[in-house]
Amino acid sequence: MAIYEYDCPRCGRFETHQAIGTAADSHACPGCRCSARRVFSAPHLTTVPQQLSAALAREERSRSDPEVVTEVPPSRR
Ligand SMILES: [Zn+2]
Repeated sequence: MAIYEYDCPRCGRFETHQAIGTAADSHACPGCRCSARRVFSAPHLTTVPQQLSAALAREERSRSDPEVVTEVPPSRR
């Protein structure tokens, strides 16, 4: 089981427990039953130092959208 987060336009964010890999892009809100959109977040990273959190986010983003260097950085002398 894993925790998935959804954002209801009326009630705000809520979490659901579902088997890993089974979360849909939308989920019925437990409060108003309307369709809530899935939110991709890194839960429990608030206790992680901000620099590490930023590095982890950058590493995860690079899987599908790598930063590409188009020129050699200028030399520093
Ligand atoms: Zn709702």
